Amino acid sequence: MRILVISDIHANLTAFEAVLQAAGPFDAAWCLGDLVGYGPDLNECVELVQTLPNPLCVKGNHDLAICSSDNLDIFNNEAGESILISRKIISTANIEFLQTLPEVITNDLATLVHGSPQNPIWEYILDTYTANLNFALVNTPLIFVGHSHLPLMFTRDKNGKKVVRHFPKPGVQTPLTRRAILNPGSVGQPRDNDPRASFGIFDPEAMTWEIHRVDYDIASVQERIIRAGLPEKHARRLSAGW
Ligand code: ZN
Repeated sequence: MRILVISDIHANLTAFEAVLQAAGPFDAAWCLGDLVGYGPDLNECVELVQTLPNPLCVKGNHDLAICSSDNLDIFNNEAGESILISRKIISTANIEFLQTLPEVITNDLATLVHGSPQNPIWEYILDTYTANLNFALVNTPLIFVGHSHLPLMFTRDKNGKKVVRHFPKPGVQTPLTRRAILNPGSVGQPRDNDPRASFGIFDPEAMTWEIHRVDYDIASVQERIIRAGLPEKHARRLSAGW
């Protein structure tokens, strides 16, 4: 069984389509939030995610912000500006879809959140201290998170004494023998200085995890960002991956 795990698509349809093509056949898609924000293709991305096989999707901070009229103080200038423009582009039906997204999804194997179990919308899990704290808050063997746009993995041994941060290499299958927090990286706006779209494949039977990176036509997305009147910075950063 193959589960496609994606996060932080950020209205980048070209990257999203490249990921779907590179992923090959999969049985389910788990999406960890931030379908919108920064990019130009809001409606297309929100609609495409719903057509994937057995989709599960949680709400991200950008999904939340676009649905409400306040909430912009916490974003930096360009992020706030992109949300204001995005609110004009998105359809009513797609706003309604984003509003219905849960903040947390839990099944036997995994907890799915955008940020962290402690704060599903806003907290970044970047260090072992925060990872350890969050391992203690849920019982599932695995926790899937997004938000940082970094393909990171944290593992924890049985007694919780040792939490280790890993930087999984693309194309290398990792056996999941311990509890783990898994971040697939970002589809639409990677921030690890590698501009290629990032995603993960989780096999719940073999208990393996694998990060993949895929090239896409960045220039065409940059053009659409400028044409939509979105901040130029969000176009520039895509070519360098920050
Ligand atoms: Zn994001």
